Amino acid sequence: MSQVHLQLVDLCVSFNGFRAVNNLNLSVNKGELRCLIGPNGAGKTTALDLICGKTRALSGEIRLDGRNLAAMEDYQIARAGVGRKFQVPSVFRQLTVRDNLEVALCRKPGVMANLFRGGRSGEGLEHLAEFVGLADQLDEPAANLSHGQTQWLEIALLLAQDSELILLDEPTAGMTAQETRKTADICNRLKGKHTIIVVEHDMGFVRDIGDVLSVMHQGSLLAEGTADEISANERVREVYLGS
Ligand code: ADP
Repeated sequence: MSQVHLQLVDLCVSFNGFRAVNNLNLSVNKGELRCLIGPNGAGKTTALDLICGKTRALSGEIRLDGRNLAAMEDYQIARAGVGRKFQVPSVFRQLTVRDNLEVALCRKPGVMANLFRGGRSGEGLEHLAEFVGLADQLDEPAANLSHGQTQWLEIALLLAQDSELILLDEPTAGMTAQETRKTADICNRLKGKHTIIVVEHDMGFVRDIGDVLSVMHQGSLLAEGTADEISANERVREVYLGS
């Protein structure tokens, strides 16, 4: 039976009196990949900001495996297994791919202890690079990577930190069609092992990865369903046409 991993309950936040997220309710199962779509300004990025602790909720609950993240500091949320990828990548550009991964692996709980005991992170590191298609770039400085490769490195950094819940904000922005297909392939291979929430505008990409789509409008959940169900939903059509 599927187990709920993340649950948002009546989540609200205001900016200068404007309700950017307004009684948002969302439930995502363990190992599920959920696409979050909606017109510009619907509150999608703010919802990710609330989950990772970048923005504090005004009211409501954010439950991860039953623990209330809304009561935690952002570093505690990261330790609880939430990893966020922003639109602008935050890799160390001067360091090689290998060194970027080493740094991320050292942030993982227990890894420092393993290193002091003489354990090696090399095997995990190479597996991660292979997983995101960067095995041949391990000794390249991150500054030399293409736009797509930089995004994949950042996904690998979240995996290195053992993030159980991965939040991806527009992962295909600025990518070529080929890079977008490869990103879809990475997302599809992550399903089942990680819970993933992807905010995305590219409906072709969403169709390739999302089993269930959640549509946000004016800070709330407007509709939920498969890509076909959402495309046929009159209320969703009205919202997109009106934006
Ligand atoms: P989406 O990601 O769906 O395009 P956002 O979550 O970025 O929407 O924004 C939702 C609304 O909240 C928008 O009207 C935006 O202008 C507003 N907003 C987001 N962040 C802030 C902020 N830090 N201060 C003021 N208004 C904000």
